[in-house]
Amino acid sequence: MHTPGSDTTAGDGLPVLLPRSQHSISRQHINEHTLKVLYRLRRSGFQAFLVGGGVRDLLLGRQPKDFDVGTDATPEQVRQLFRNCFLVGRRFRLAHVRYADNYVVEVATFRRQPKPEELPENPEEHFFFAENVYGTPQEDAFRRDFTINALFYNIDDFSVIDYVGGLEDLAARRLRVIGDPATRFAEDPVRMLRALEFAARLGFSLDEATREAIYRAAPLIAEAAPARIREELLELFRHQVGGAVLRQAQAMGLLPHLLAGYEGDDETFALLEQLDGRTASGIPIQEPFVLAALFLSRFRQLCCPPQEATVSDALRTANLLLNSICGYFRIAQGSRAAARELLTGFFRLSGGRGRRGEGRFLRHPVWSQAMQLLQLWVAATGEGQELLAAWQEMGGAASPASPAAPGRPGTAGRRRRRPRRRKKPAAQTEKRPSDS
Ligand code: ATP
Ligand code: MG
Repeated sequence: MHTPGSDTTAGDGLPVLLPRSQHSISRQHINEHTLKVLYRLRRSGFQAFLVGGGVRDLLLGRQPKDFDVGTDATPEQVRQLFRNCFLVGRRFRLAHVRYADNYVVEVATFRRQPKPEELPENPEEHFFFAENVYGTPQEDAFRRDFTINALFYNIDDFSVIDYVGGLEDLAARRLRVIGDPATRFAEDPVRMLRALEFAARLGFSLDEATREAIYRAAPLIAEAAPARIREELLELFRHQVGGAVLRQAQAMGLLPHLLAGYEGDDETFALLEQLDGRTASGIPIQEPFVLAALFLSRFRQLCCPPQEATVSDALRTANLLLNSICGYFRIAQGSRAAARELLTGFFRLSGGRGRRGEGRFLRHPVWSQAMQLLQLWVAATGEGQELLAAWQEMGGAASPASPAAPGRPGTAGRRRRRPRRRKKPAAQTEKRPSDS
């Protein structure tokens, strides 16, 4: 790899420059609106680079989820340049340039790490304070989380600019924190979770210092804002790495600090991996389904098979299991109820065919969702195949894309109908997300 000054990257601040001839990023791969924003900023005399995950993904030959622009223009200056621009973010001020096709180009002003003496007295305010101190491109690269997330693409000469050794790490398929991992994790413990996420998404290994720092700093993640953790967790499942990452988090001692004392077992991780496979096949992830999957194994141990337990026992158990995590993450009652219904639906399925109230259960919208949970469980553990087959006779495979609509028991149709005829092929009409 062409590396002028590669041994000086972090030292005297000279970046590694990878010219157009030595990488595969072409303007054709970059969204046209993003290009327009880059060119307009440049023509107006500002610096502007493509930054972050977009550059990383393009260099890896992957389709970026979105493109971000870094500039030395302040959010206010960006707003004056683009009629279709809105400033967003209470804490991290960003400019969003919106286009008619709903495409949004996110434009962030270069930031830097504040000096210790600049920080507010209250340590809890450090992270958000640091988010809003403007700096140079180089300083902006160093305040980012991982080397592979800190590469810039220069629209002037189509080169890639690397201040932090990200190109080397990309080539070695290695995830490395910028700077001292212990310090960077103490600054923002959510980075530990992000480290596991990117390693899993890209199939990268964790750099040794990064890995060791996670072992040591794991308890710190309990201090991160639950709302941020919740969002990053959902992001894991959207990217179909929830199972792999939580398994890894458990192995590294991170999981209980992440999830309010939660400990997973092998069956759970296998189930979550099945869930990720289901998401990969195009079924959007829903939080209640994730919650139910997280607690299914424990729930089964407590009340399935249901010879002795009643439905109200199952409800109570589900509540007990879900309460602490839902309280911690302030998960809305609706989601909580949906997760509880899924678990009790699973309980009913576990009891086998021919029980009292079966007709009503089959007409309940939760039936198909609980069937999907059972299918995933069978695939994950190999247990319950006959049970699943018995229920599948009632209407083929559960329609995979129909969303849970719990909390509205059996409102659909009072007429007694045969369950087989009641199954409408929701999966065929439901819009699938574009495959990514
Ligand atoms: P993707 O969007 O594909 O999930 P991404 O790398 O774009 O990946 P984002 O969460 O969108 O990730 O963040 C954009 C960029 O902002 C990152 O690439 C990284 O440079 C920086 N960043 C995000 N979160 C942090 C953080 N907690 N600490 C430091 N830098 C961060
Ligand atoms: Mg992004």
